[in-house]
Amino acid sequence: MDVACPQCGNPNLDVDAQNSVVYCKKCGFAVRVDPQTGETTPLSPGGQAGGEAPPAQGGSESTAAYSDHSILEMDAFMFWMVGTAALLFLTLFTVIPDLTWFVVLEVMLTVFWWMKR
Ligand SMILES: [Zn+2]
Repeated sequence: MDVACPQCGNPNLDVDAQNSVVYCKKCGFAVRVDPQTGETTPLSPGGQAGGEAPPAQGGSESTAAYSDHSILEMDAFMFWMVGTAALLFLTLFTVIPDLTWFVVLEVMLTVFWWMKR
């Protein structure tokens, strides 16, 4: 991990491999990294010297803001296309064990796209 903390610039971020969490000891910034998708979920915004904020505090709020932001960055249809391609890829390489899963995930993706467009 050689990524500096986005809150305080601390270059030595600590990694909790067991929980897939990257956190900053200096300001309490913490983010969960999904090992399967590489998706990051903010747990604590940090910004306070010395103390670690409890992960639950404001967690869902910042998660929603984060995903809204990343959707806006990408065209909604492009998002759907990329998602479908990713699902096909996962199915081909039998990461998804059952075709039912592919269909369910694809439907979820389409519904999500429908609501966002
Ligand atoms: Zn920090």
